[in-house]
Amino acid sequence: MAPDQIKAVTVVGAGTMGNGIAHVFAQHGFAVLLCDVKQEFVDRGLATIRGNLDRQIKKGTITEEEKGHILGSIRPVLNLQEACSGADLIVEAVTEQEAVKKHLFRDFDRHSTPSAILASNTSSISITELGAVTSRPDKVIGMHFMNPVPVMKLVEVIRGLATSDATYQVIKGLSERLEKVPVEVNDYPGFISNRVLLPMLNEAMYCVMEGVATPEAIDTVMKLGMNHPMGPLTLADFIGLDVCLSIMEVLYKGLGDSKYRPCPLLKKMVAAGHLGRKTGKGFYTYTTA
Ligand code: NAD
Repeated sequence: MAPDQIKAVTVVGAGTMGNGIAHVFAQHGFAVLLCDVKQEFVDRGLATIRGNLDRQIKKGTITEEEKGHILGSIRPVLNLQEACSGADLIVEAVTEQEAVKKHLFRDFDRHSTPSAILASNTSSISITELGAVTSRPDKVIGMHFMNPVPVMKLVEVIRGLATSDATYQVIKGLSERLEKVPVEVNDYPGFISNRVLLPMLNEAMYCVMEGVATPEAIDTVMKLGMNHPMGPLTLADFIGLDVCLSIMEVLYKGLGDSKYRPCPLLKKMVAAGHLGRKTGKGFYTYTTA
């Protein structure tokens, strides 16, 4: 299949990433089905897309008419079978839980046409393992967008052990059509982005736990000293501390090296429900979520 043969795209999961992925595909002329388990989740995703499109209008990057066209290209759907049946590409962006994703990939395989490509936006779960639960591991691939999807240019394109060259070429070309920059990565825990980023965030948390310095001091050192646009603890709060913990657990389990052990302070904060920006409390306190 050539990249331009992909026309109908189904995005499963309308949360932080899923609505951004649907937005970007619709903006680039694809017919998008946006699927979630409850109407209110799809509605929330669509409301976020609407808000982000309004921001683009204010910046002058799209017109009011284009906004209408983009929103008109995204159809909400709750039934998974209906969501999968006409798709050339399914992009999964649900909660980062292996069992949930494996269950969904079995369903995608059952309900979609044999030629459809099945992609996951997972941050850390093995693409090879997701492929192995389907009858088409050659057509299973990682398409790892960054948050916020409409803004960030990178897509890590992750090849599972069985992903074919043809599938890789389609997804690479498709990412370019979305005006993103695809980077080829082989399937190992955390890929590139989280393998390199998360241990740094985890180490910053150890620095807080050991009293090396305050979160503000650590973030200032990394911003002014290393030219990072955002300090590691601000970034961890932005990503979500529960997400950070589950990625560290994948690295620790998958690579078996003690250098990837999650910081005990991170575990404690997640247990307390201090998940960062989304709960109003993490390494910093937020008055608006
Ligand atoms: P989120 O919690 O904001 O959204 C997940 C959505 O999936 C929810 O709306 C939930 O209702 C839905 N969902 C759960 N099970 C479902 C099912 N069986 N069928 C349909 N929908 C279902 O999560 P998120 O932050 O958007 O993350 C989604 C994926 O993207 C994860 O794999 C995550 O690791 C990855 N990711 C996240 C980020 C980030 O910064 N948040 C960045 C890159 C990749």
